[in-house]
Amino acid sequence: MNPDKVKELLFSAGYPKWRCEQTEKAVYSGGFSSFSQIKVLPSEIRELLDSKLAVLSFEPVKVFSSQKGDSHKAALKLKDKRIIETALLYRDLRRWSVCLSTQAGCPVRCSFCYSGKEGLKRNLSWEEIADQALFWKSYLKDNNLGEIQSVVYMGMGEPFLNYENTAASIKVINDKLGIGKRHISISTCGHIPGIRRFAKDFPQINLAISLHSARNEERDKLVPMNVRYPLEQLSKAVRDYIDSAKRKVFIEYIMIAGLNDKSSDAGKLAEWIKNTHENKYFTVNLIAYNETGKSYKASPVEKMQNFQKLLLIRGIEATIRKSLGSEIKGACGQLALEK
Ligand code: SF4
Repeated sequence: MNPDKVKELLFSAGYPKWRCEQTEKAVYSGGFSSFSQIKVLPSEIRELLDSKLAVLSFEPVKVFSSQKGDSHKAALKLKDKRIIETALLYRDLRRWSVCLSTQAGCPVRCSFCYSGKEGLKRNLSWEEIADQALFWKSYLKDNNLGEIQSVVYMGMGEPFLNYENTAASIKVINDKLGIGKRHISISTCGHIPGIRRFAKDFPQINLAISLHSARNEERDKLVPMNVRYPLEQLSKAVRDYIDSAKRKVFIEYIMIAGLNDKSSDAGKLAEWIKNTHENKYFTVNLIAYNETGKSYKASPVEKMQNFQKLLLIRGIEATIRKSLGSEIKGACGQLALEK
């Protein structure tokens, strides 16, 4: 929902400001798919709003749920008929993490990722991004499943290539949906101008870097943006970010068998971190590769554990991320632009 459009419509029909605030509050509390369901509003306002505006800027087409019910993926049809995806993943104690998409498709075309397979179709508006969180809030409420604990920008698209809309959506998610800044994370594949801007604009929001390799020759293939912003430049940008934001950075590392999971790769990663800043500013999240139609294979668990151990020995916090959503193709790198 775009609150400005609600205001414009209600003001032009002569309604007072508090009616706009009442509408906004009701919508962002979740659980409404149309204005007609908001019974605290007089029927003439409900009809007026429904005749001109929609609660969500897209039409939810289908929700896919894992057998255990700990991950869900939604296909959402945009106004231009494109279908994007967003995911909801269980954390603990009835609390969930929402994974948002910022672009329809992705221009970066990382080799392990399904989202970039067809390139970029278009940027999503801030409303389309924020509404994904609103959609999941309502979904959780309608199904009595709990609440959103965190929001991660790790779905389709590179958030910093759609900076303005990403930034505007963060504000809505924080101000209107009430998700605390420290519970919001942005993941970038290393867009340096975006990192620098983000450090100034959102020092309290978490930053994650999708690194996946600490060797330029390999990262050029895995994350093609590395050709433009190689590891040395990325290291400097991350160092400056830490110096200004005084925040920890999360390093995302998808582990692909035989490609980036060797002991020497762990050593390289530790070296990149050491050259960037003190170890205490980093947490490495090791993620098993999820099937995306490539010839890649996920690293075996023992390899991942060994990699983790090598980082821990060097004093770097490292976790093996529990993989959720692969069963419904809603895990890391699997969200796609559907026809
Ligand atoms: S990993 Fe992220 S940046 Fe790379 S293609 Fe997928 S969505 Fe785009």
